Amino acid sequence: SLVKELMPELRMTESRMLARLNANENPYGPSPKVIQAITESVSLGNRYGHGDAATLISMIAEKEGVDKECIMLGPGSTDLLEKAAITRFQHGGNIVSADPSYMSVMSTAQAMGGKWKPVPLAADYSHDFAGMAAAIDKDTRLVYVCNPNNPTGSISDAAALRKFCLEVSPKVPVFVDEAYLEFLETPETQTMVGLVAEGKDVIVARTFSKIHGMAGLRIGYIVATPERIQSITEKVRSTMGLCVTSLKGAIASMQETAFLAECKSQNTECREFITSEIIKLGYSPIPSFTSFVIFPIHMEGEKFMKGMYGEGVGIRAYDMYDKPWCRVSMGTQQELELFLETFKKVTQA
Ligand code: PLP
Repeated sequence: SLVKELMPELRMTESRMLARLNANENPYGPSPKVIQAITESVSLGNRYGHGDAATLISMIAEKEGVDKECIMLGPGSTDLLEKAAITRFQHGGNIVSADPSYMSVMSTAQAMGGKWKPVPLAADYSHDFAGMAAAIDKDTRLVYVCNPNNPTGSISDAAALRKFCLEVSPKVPVFVDEAYLEFLETPETQTMVGLVAEGKDVIVARTFSKIHGMAGLRIGYIVATPERIQSITEKVRSTMGLCVTSLKGAIASMQETAFLAECKSQNTECREFITSEIIKLGYSPIPSFTSFVIFPIHMEGEKFMKGMYGEGVGIRAYDMYDKPWCRVSMGTQQELELFLETFKKVTQA
């Protein structure tokens, strides 16, 4: 892999964190309506949430323009990324994806005995679709595309991705992780969900963890053909991992519009602010389309991590392309200002 996380154990030291900019969380959520719905639902905790799961599935199906049979819910999209890999790699095979990318599906595939065939991102950090198509062979069981990508924050062209999916999906299912989709200016023209409606073997993952501000509440979903969903649910349970409070919260969040728009505009504003400040300091961030920004730093990565966490500022550091990088999530304006102040102090010490 072209990317190695530095000192991942530090991110668990939450109690000392003055600014939590290490996990791409939404600093504004969950919305007041979600909090109210969850509060009211706590007393229903003696009952399974199957009815609420059915309600949420119907709402998602309507929003995405697909049948209910095309939706599977999970406690966070991680659960679905892993279940897709578990059910796909029981008998080995390989997975093709970009490198660097978000590793959940590939890690689970490897844990199941599958092989990872990484294809380096292009020079502009977009997916090398030609390279990925060429890497697919008779043993390829799944292709993973994260768009926008984590940890690079970069985007791949929607038309190119669509073409790739059309070309590849008759041979092997394509898993498109759209965790950060809603932060894009035009998510509706960049999602691959339309391909599912067209019957293509594409699995699109979405989450309530990012724009909805519900990371700790754990809800996500995939959209895929009924046959593809069934190929997963015939092996592993779907709604048993969901809790009724989170379901009620997600149902309430689906009805939000102003709150989600506000989160998006705040995110864009913070991203522009932090990007320009980092550039002013002489660094070169990768243009981000997500809720985080990553850039190469000019000091030893572990020393940087210790310095930042020592000051209570949680970020992530990576060794990527043979140099250390800092990834900072969008937080409140106050958190980002603390980040900048601490960053200067640590890097200029
Ligand atoms: N996919 C990507 C690209 C992510 O960055 C994340 C979380 O950071 C996830 C999936 C998992 O999110 P969750 O399990 O909270 O839905």
